[in-house]
Amino acid sequence: MNNHFRETLGVALQHALAHLESLDASSVAATVDLATLRSRLVKPMNQLPMDPGQVVEELVADVRGGILGSAGGRFFGWVIGGSLPAALAADWLTAAWDQNAARYACGPAAAVVEEAAGAWLKEILRLPEAASFAFVTGCQMAHVTCLAAARHGLLAARGWEVEQRGLSGAPAIRLLTSGLRHGSIERAVRLLGLGLDNVIDLPADSQGRLQLPDLERELQRELARPTVVLLQAGDINTGAFDSFPECIAMAKRYGAWVHVDGAIGLWAAASPQYRHLLQGVEQADSWATDGHKWLNVPFDSGYAIVADREAHQASMLHRAPYLITGGDARDEGDWNPEWSRRARGFATYAALRQLGKAGVADMVERCCRHARALVSGIGQLAGTQVLWEPVINQGLVRFLDPCAAANATADHDRYTEAVIARILATGEAFFGPTTWRGVRCMRISVCNWQTSENDVERAVRAVAAAL
Ligand SMILES: *Cc1c(COP(=O)(O)O)cnc(C)c1O
Repeated sequence: MNNHFRETLGVALQHALAHLESLDASSVAATVDLATLRSRLVKPMNQLPMDPGQVVEELVADVRGGILGSAGGRFFGWVIGGSLPAALAADWLTAAWDQNAARYACGPAAAVVEEAAGAWLKEILRLPEAASFAFVTGCQMAHVTCLAAARHGLLAARGWEVEQRGLSGAPAIRLLTSGLRHGSIERAVRLLGLGLDNVIDLPADSQGRLQLPDLERELQRELARPTVVLLQAGDINTGAFDSFPECIAMAKRYGAWVHVDGAIGLWAAASPQYRHLLQGVEQADSWATDGHKWLNVPFDSGYAIVADREAHQASMLHRAPYLITGGDARDEGDWNPEWSRRARGFATYAALRQLGKAGVADMVERCCRHARALVSGIGQLAGTQVLWEPVINQGLVRFLDPCAAANATADHDRYTEAVIARILATGEAFFGPTTWRGVRCMRISVCNWQTSENDVERAVRAVAAAL
């Protein structure tokens, strides 16, 4: 029987290999514009069925030039990792197996793989073995999951069963942060009904850290209030780390729940060279991190880890008469915000197996080394100002307009944007802009397992040419 799988997947395999094997020689930026992509892709919907192989062929032809080279080693924009071969292959199989990883009964092997990978994650991130976890779509949903557990824990301690009674009339939870929080925190706060007015941004010091006297003053100001202290492991711009032992000890003295945004920086735990940055982080109550950034698992993959298993489960547990529970097995849906879901554990399992502990450490250290080399190489070019030397794998530079009036921030901002656009136009390297401490700058983020010394040299040359 010809069910088309062999020929359709064969077409996909050939195109996937052609893409991955030409990354080194291709433009890392898009080479077509929005209008072109629309003119090719936004067609009238076909009335009649198409041959599946032809669907794939036409899709590949129509997206040409609109696929960024983020799977390769010269992509330094945002914080975006590539995919390890084993993780990509496992992800393909995940689609082929097409399990609904909601419960053990719907996908027994998927449930056990996730259980194993969750234990490995806690081990390599050096978080408490007894903590519960959830495999979610990204750090955004990891925040939602962790903060839902926090909401339960803080309010249950005040006699308020939030899942049953809702938030109306409940003591208002506040979040204290350094103000450098990632935008995904805000959305988690919005989704959970905590209210942005209850997020209190405290000043950060020159190293991007929450300051203890500010934290203590704020904790004392409203002693009875249920409070989440949000700490950062790897700030989005600078990779900065809060001082965990002091901040966590203080937060705990006042009965606060400590949540850590470790989307990037929690992975420093894998490296003997960098793990001192995370000293004490295991004392927090919940941690959110990503698989699709530094671990180089395909999108989408994030992890929520919660010390208080009961608070976690109370916020997520789902029971219905038609469900078959796993009994002794772990039902993923009892820890996750989704019902039907992709068997996300397979790719993470494969990534961790491919690298092993030594391989994760090596990848982390390599990315940090390349980030430092990029910042110092670019920093040596005339007209460049280094704003942030990488602590881990994130750095910041800007380009000074030689024609600018003295201290003309607006001129330098425009010039920086223009240089970034010229770098992208070379197709040799991809960097993104950001505003940091009031000035536009270029972010340098190295998260891809494939980035090599040669890629770093090519990128520095591309910046020199753009200047
Ligand atoms: C990327 C990032 C997030 C959001 O993670 P997603 O995986 O995009 O949902 C949160 N915090 C930090 C520090 C990040 O870098």
